[in-house]
Amino acid sequence: MVTEKVINSKKVFISEKHHYNLIPWANIRKNKSHGLNILCLDHHIDNRPAFLHYAFNQVTNEYDKTKADKLLVQMSYNNVSSIEDNIINMKNDEHIDIGIKLDIISKIFIICFMDCSFDSPRAYEIAKYQKDVQYAFNNHLPPPQLPVRPYTYPESNAYTLENICYVGCKRQPHDDDCQIIHFNQAINSILLNQKLDIINEMTPNIVSKQKFIQNFILDIDLDYFHTKKSIFPNNIDTFYGLIHDAESITIAKESEFIEQWSNEYEYDKELTVDFLLESILKHIYLATKISC
Ligand SMILES: [Zn+2]
Repeated sequence: MVTEKVINSKKVFISEKHHYNLIPWANIRKNKSHGLNILCLDHHIDNRPAFLHYAFNQVTNEYDKTKADKLLVQMSYNNVSSIEDNIINMKNDEHIDIGIKLDIISKIFIICFMDCSFDSPRAYEIAKYQKDVQYAFNNHLPPPQLPVRPYTYPESNAYTLENICYVGCKRQPHDDDCQIIHFNQAINSILLNQKLDIINEMTPNIVSKQKFIQNFILDIDLDYFHTKKSIFPNNIDTFYGLIHDAESITIAKESEFIEQWSNEYEYDKELTVDFLLESILKHIYLATKISC
């Protein structure tokens, strides 16, 4: 289910489906006194409740939380086979909630392209701004100015980072012409540095000066890449820094989505999962070669 590789002494775990990565995460967690910090790069937000699909009652059309909880109480990172045995009951967008509920994940930061018009949880300044916008609209007043960073955030285990368009876009509103440019910034330092600065605002003492200062796992879903160009940006320094600093790297192939990007959406007809995997492993080799 999960293949392990060691590249210049960096442990890399590769799986087909994103939720399989709970297995290496649990294995790492069981040797620690606290949950993991994870930086996740993914097309999707993967924030569905634990065992939503398994515990969804088709008759009442409701999530049967008791049914989900019955599985959760059987599972523990101290007994990794209890997680392996339940992988069959999970879908590939439920693992974050499961990881948090099992205390495998302490903090996860998700950079994604879907459902990320705003940070989640929403910054206090943005929540106030949205109220002010509504008030201005209701009272025919001019709209308020968007507050400038830094923002302050409620405490959370899972943070999704605002990723509405590429760094530097001036189009208003953003349109289709923005999309490929945005995709191609996926691991460009200009985008990653902006996100690391936001993580520093979200939760202090995990990131400083665009570097993680605590242990973390770099988790990459290959469907984060929509074009061949996106995995070879013109500035890769920050991505190499993340690879170098990560205690381990987990990769989900999610071939089905890469197939959609190339054949259905035609973002790049030459994009294949094999190309992406080979390229990411090459990056890991190069980023770890210098110092390991
Ligand atoms: Zn734009």
